[in-house]
Amino acid sequence: MKIIIDFDGTLTAEEAQAALLAKKILTTLAIEILDVPIKQLTAEFAEIRQRAQANPNQYWWQVNGLVASYADEGAFILNTTSIQALLRGDERYLARVTAVYPNPEYDPVADCMNALFHRHSAELPPQFRPEATAVLNALLADPARAPVILTNSLGDKVRRQLDTLPLRGAVPILGDTRQYEMAPDWDRTFHLRNGATSQVWLPLTDYPIDLRRPAYFRALKRAQADDPRVAVVADTLSLPGALPLVMGIPFFLLKTSYTPAWCLQAVETHPSGRVLDNLGDLPDALNGMDWLK
Ligand SMILES: [Mg+2]
Repeated sequence: MKIIIDFDGTLTAEEAQAALLAKKILTTLAIEILDVPIKQLTAEFAEIRQRAQANPNQYWWQVNGLVASYADEGAFILNTTSIQALLRGDERYLARVTAVYPNPEYDPVADCMNALFHRHSAELPPQFRPEATAVLNALLADPARAPVILTNSLGDKVRRQLDTLPLRGAVPILGDTRQYEMAPDWDRTFHLRNGATSQVWLPLTDYPIDLRRPAYFRALKRAQADDPRVAVVADTLSLPGALPLVMGIPFFLLKTSYTPAWCLQAVETHPSGRVLDNLGDLPDALNGMDWLK
């Protein structure tokens, strides 16, 4: 079985890295793109971040006009969401970002944020969760398990960081899988458990999750073509978890200090979903599940 494991926040302690990452991103934004005092931008960020935390389903990581993830789903996601809201909400900032990204792949704000994230998350020192090495080694030692790292980050950052762990073998990396790549014109629909055929999964009324993520869909299909038995493990829901769940692929949500109740509820109530209280529980959780064999 192929075990697709998310990197940031799942193998790493994202909650301990988010403040430093925000500081690096805000510094570059202030100096290189917006030409505003760092102190001013930092204060504006703090204010909007607080608002996003208070109203998480009204702030989101937006790509091509669609919601990729809600503000409260992860520590890095809260950074991304708050900075996106800051840039979209200020005409002057938006004009500067549009001038710097005149031919965006998605839209200027999404492209700008992606570039800042890739650049500065690669500068963070590795900070793995304490259980990461043992879990990866347990999976590598089991001939029935093929761990693969899945990440929105670029593969070279992930490889460099994984190389610092005493692993018994190499773990393949599916880098830059772009779970955030939203495509409004993608016409694929999904059969949901309530009998509906839709492009939106509504695990909870206040949190519709858009399923128009063709890049990630193709990545999952390629994984299934390689081995029809696939499971996904991640610390957030909308980006890495929604598609697997509606496709009937088992999804393990790692509960972290930042995991919101609505994500736990959405996964706990789905027959293909399981919540992991600790990353170290993963090998046993995989072994103990008839529905995965
Ligand atoms: Mg993650």
